[in-house]
Amino acid sequence: MSLNELCNCSRCGELFVYRYKDVCPRCLKKVEEDFEVCVRYLRNKENRQATINEMSEKTGVSVDQITEFIREKRLLIDQIPNLSFPCEGCGTMIRSGRLCESCTSDWKKELEEMETSEHDQESEKEKRAGGFYINQTKYKV
Ligand SMILES: [Zn+2]
Ligand SMILES: [Zn+2]
Repeated sequence: MSLNELCNCSRCGELFVYRYKDVCPRCLKKVEEDFEVCVRYLRNKENRQATINEMSEKTGVSVDQITEFIREKRLLIDQIPNLSFPCEGCGTMIRSGRLCESCTSDWKKELEEMETSEHDQESEKEKRAGGFYINQTKYKV
């Protein structure tokens, strides 16, 4: 996408002139307003026990949008114990990133398995190299 080209807003689908963001100015303004509302909401100590659904209900900001603010670390939730959002893998509630611990470790295991199979290929190569060595010894004798 290039500057000043017309494109569709990723939030509302409206055509707008591209300027570094894939959301239109109206949506961009809305996101900033939503953020303000969230910050104002959490400034109130009584609201710091809220879950993400309660917060969404009270503020009118969508759960997805609040999740995005938390992921971007614009909203810091260290002091807000009940605020969490679903893991993209299994739906367990988490407080940062995209995956819960068990999905992350599954993912790591998969990576390790990929590495192990690469390792097997390595030892195949070693075996072949070993064969070559034996041939060489034979040659020397
Ligand atoms: Zn838009
Ligand atoms: Zn998970």
